[in-house]
Amino acid sequence: MDNKTNPTRSTTFRLITIAASGLGSFMLGLWGLKLGYGSHVAGLPSEVVGGALAALCALAASLAAMSFFAGVDESVSYVYQETQVDKLTGLHARTAMIGKIAEAASATIRNGEPVFLIDIDIDRFKQVNDSIGYSQGDQLIRAFARRLREILPDTVEMGRIGAGEFAVLIHDTPDMGPVDTLVEYLMEKLMQPYQLPSHLQSINLSVGIVAMPKDGIDPVVLLRKSNLALQHARAGGIGNWSVFHAEMGKVAEYRQWIESELHLAFKRGDFDLHYQPQFDLPSGRIVGYEALVRWKHPERGMIPPTEFVPIAEETGMIGPIGEWVLHKACSDARLLPQDCFVAVNISPVQFMTKDFLAMVRNVIDVTGIDPKRLELEVTETAMMQDRGRAAHILDELARMGISVAVDDFGTGYSNLSYLIDFSFKKLKIDQSFVQRLETDANSGAVVSTIVGLSRALGVHTIAEGVETENQVTLLRAAGCEVVQGYLYGRPGPIGSKVPRSKPLQKIAMH
Ligand code: C2E
Ligand code: CA
Ligand code: CA
Repeated sequence: MDNKTNPTRSTTFRLITIAASGLGSFMLGLWGLKLGYGSHVAGLPSEVVGGALAALCALAASLAAMSFFAGVDESVSYVYQETQVDKLTGLHARTAMIGKIAEAASATIRNGEPVFLIDIDIDRFKQVNDSIGYSQGDQLIRAFARRLREILPDTVEMGRIGAGEFAVLIHDTPDMGPVDTLVEYLMEKLMQPYQLPSHLQSINLSVGIVAMPKDGIDPVVLLRKSNLALQHARAGGIGNWSVFHAEMGKVAEYRQWIESELHLAFKRGDFDLHYQPQFDLPSGRIVGYEALVRWKHPERGMIPPTEFVPIAEETGMIGPIGEWVLHKACSDARLLPQDCFVAVNISPVQFMTKDFLAMVRNVIDVTGIDPKRLELEVTETAMMQDRGRAAHILDELARMGISVAVDDFGTGYSNLSYLIDFSFKKLKIDQSFVQRLETDANSGAVVSTIVGLSRALGVHTIAEGVETENQVTLLRAAGCEVVQGYLYGRPGPIGSKVPRSKPLQKIAMH
């Protein structure tokens, strides 16, 4: 961006404009004089005055044109700089990168040499940016781009195509070596921590790869495919890369279908809640039920929440669905044993909406549930988006008498320092730790640490995904109080949870 110029500030542009308008005024003045004094101006014959006027006219017009073109040229170069070069990093901006991909695609058709488009994305960059602040987020991006430039030869085209997303074009030439080796080397280097003014920042990356011409030559389609490969890599865990294959397109189609169907399904009343018991080990009784949303599509059957909740979050449908879930769970509480609470999952998107508290208050009023019988399960990620606001929301919920459990604990930031600022009643140990408890000593250590931490904070612990007696023994030994999992009951319709003495016809599902 060194030669970036803004036409409104350029000196050349101003000088020319001023000169042209000055001459214009001068001419107007002469013309005025001629009108006023007739055929003789300042004692000169009218032919001389006319000639001088014509010459001045031509000069003024050409200067005006020059200034106009200079302005246009500068505007063009300004717009070019603004749209083609990424301000933050100096790499190609998204539009320029699309152009470079198109160039590479036509070259590959001409010479037959494959080119790889490598899509590199910083995992959860938005959250990282929110938690470290935009200024340090920018510094992180700059440092990342610098490192990318250092690792790759100058001839490699690279661009920033999203907030924390970069694209690189690699020609399949012998000196570059096999693409998988290169990608692994790149990832290893780029994932080493970055020194920022206040701390050392770690990042994780996901990478998607497409090959030209095998996977196509249309730059926009190629970018979509590399992104699909990237999403696939991300779903596979931390620090993964994937090469695009056609199956990924089908996954994208399915997502599209869900997106278009969600609205209709909600209106049609496809959704329902299943409940899973939470068992208190010391007292040996069920203390609560977690409400889990279920979508039964009339043709496709059951669609699991792991498939549609993330899409509902992206499209905003989580708002109405989440409100419906809360409303239904709070009214269902009447049908559950009086000494049990109902736990409701709150999406991070829902948690941060402006009217979240008002919505909760309204549901409590309308359903008449005792707020003490309501527990909200909120993930760490939700709380980390905007810590100040999250702390306020949690305080308000506590004031209303509603308890909060930190869901999936251990899988997110696990940034222990923030826990002290937040009001919550429980840490819910994620099932990934429970499931590895019998085979992996580290998981045992994590569980004991979480229990120890919760004791220090004066909150309770619950473990989810408990499937075997052995796991219970280990959890009990670690000091965990409440457990939930298939061993104690699978999620099921509320009918199966109601004490037998109640007449079945009262247990309406909708
Ligand atoms: P989660 O909150 O971690 O819920 C626990 C998941 O583990 C549930 O999956 C539950 O059926 C499953 N589970 C329970 N016990 C066991 C066990 O012993 N073994 C195994 N392998 N799994 C067990 P489900 O119902 O498919 O829900 C998946 C996720 O979808 C939930 O994870 C939650 O994040 C989300 N979700 C479900 N219902 C809602 C909802 O009403 N609102 C929102 N925002 N998210 C929801
Ligand atoms: Ca949950
Ligand atoms: Ca979980």
